[in-house]
Amino acid sequence: MQLANQVALITGGARGIGKEIAALFAREGADLALFDVNAQVLEQTAAELRALGRRVEGLVVDVTNASAVDEAVSKVLDKLSKIDILVNNAGITHDGLVVRMEESQWDRVLDINLKGTFLCTRAVAKAMLKARRGRIVSIASIVGLIGNPGQANYAASKAGVIGMTKSVAKELATRGITCNAIAPGFIKTEMTDRLADEAKQRLRALIPMGTLGEPSDVAQAALFLVSDAARYITGHVLVVDGGLAM
Ligand code: NAP
Repeated sequence: MQLANQVALITGGARGIGKEIAALFAREGADLALFDVNAQVLEQTAAELRALGRRVEGLVVDVTNASAVDEAVSKVLDKLSKIDILVNNAGITHDGLVVRMEESQWDRVLDINLKGTFLCTRAVAKAMLKARRGRIVSIASIVGLIGNPGQANYAASKAGVIGMTKSVAKELATRGITCNAIAPGFIKTEMTDRLADEAKQRLRALIPMGTLGEPSDVAQAALFLVSDAARYITGHVLVVDGGLAM
């Protein structure tokens, strides 16, 4: 087991890619804290993961709320004693062409995807600095690298996550803390289920490997980045996209 005796905090961990990362980390021996907004789904996921024999704290936290994030991180430190790994995964889309995009649409996507990543990183990095070790992984997107029509807000948020990752990596590099990002392409989750069949067909045609990715493809990349095997990798953006962005 690669993560025995470690504690991982995963935001948006109740479903989708976050849940898959949580399950893989639990199978690798990590205890977990999950932040998410839907109490019912969160409790159900926490119960499933406890069945793997791990300690799991599910906390209802909106990552855009600074005081809620700080309080929840303190609770996790009280209950699980430490946080070795942070995965900033909570994220949303709210698509629209830029000329029709409402200010509120822009603000909400930037708030959750970018500010939420900042608030969680800030809260957890303080504890990691004291411990002089830690692993931070943020889930960006290839859309933050190559853009996508209808997703100016999402692309800006994910490009922001990538810039933030590199800055934080430089700030924390001498303190035993790595900070990396994963840029998934199109992965089968509820986020992409919402796309029309025609859009999915078009996407598939653009992916050299010819198929959408699975949440487990992203989870395995996250496991690598938090494992000892990646101890000398920081400020990196690991693209997991079936070749789409190359
Ligand atoms: P998902 O299935 O929609 O899951 C996202 C989770 O985050 C949900 O449980 C959601 O809660 C939670 N969340 C939303 N807002 C939150 C907030 N303010 N505070 C805390 N939790 C919040 O999405 P996914 O496809 O797994 O995506 C996970 C991450 O991967 C996102 O950052 C996304 O941008 C990124 N990504 C996904 C793809 C893809 O193709 N799926 C590709 C590239 C990048 P609710 O239940 O309320 O929605």
